[in-house]
Amino acid sequence: MDRPLDHYWAKRLADLQRALEANNFEAYAAADPAAAHRIVMDEIVPQCGARSIGWGGSMTVVGTGLYQTVKARTDIEMVDTLDKQVSSEEFLERRRRSLLVDLFITGTNAVTEDGQLVNLDMFGNRVAALTFGPKHVVVIVGRNKIVPSIDEAMFRVKNIAAPANAMRLDKKTPCVKTSYCEECKSPDRICNTWTITEKSYPKGRVKVVLVNQDLGL
Ligand code: SF4
Repeated sequence: MDRPLDHYWAKRLADLQRALEANNFEAYAAADPAAAHRIVMDEIVPQCGARSIGWGGSMTVVGTGLYQTVKARTDIEMVDTLDKQVSSEEFLERRRRSLLVDLFITGTNAVTEDGQLVNLDMFGNRVAALTFGPKHVVVIVGRNKIVPSIDEAMFRVKNIAAPANAMRLDKKTPCVKTSYCEECKSPDRICNTWTITEKSYPKGRVKVVLVNQDLGL
């Protein structure tokens, strides 16, 4: 068999797709980031009739090329929450406005095998949008985010995703030096609000696109 690892993960992703659907998420499987891009732009955006789109901070989303595509569309208003060149007031204002868009596109810190999304935010705009506000939410998920349980999701977030994100963002936190969460009290702490999304409500509001590649942190 060619590429046995891809076959292995395709089966795992198919199982996870069914688990997510049982939890009322709309779920899709994509072979790679280009396929995820097609699913979002050719299926989900037209079906939603989205006229405005906002973003959760996510290396996964940037890796799909969706940000550049939406930015070039003149028929869609983009609330550009990924632009780092704005003032701190504008930075926060855009995150507030992104809670009322038609479609919010983000990643997730972890997804459990039984189809629950686990996230930990610094500002809280991403988990707020995932929970309520935008009419529709798309969550792009690389296969490296799959974990067996909520406990292992929380371990993954605190000891892989958060330290790596603190490094990416040049934060002055102890995990940048040790690679492990030290439960810091740093003003730069990026770990402030947890969410566990057990099910999508209303049914289908949250759409999960599973990608058969490692993506994001
Ligand atoms: S709580 Fe502090 S030390 Fe722990 S992962 Fe978050 S930022 Fe790093």
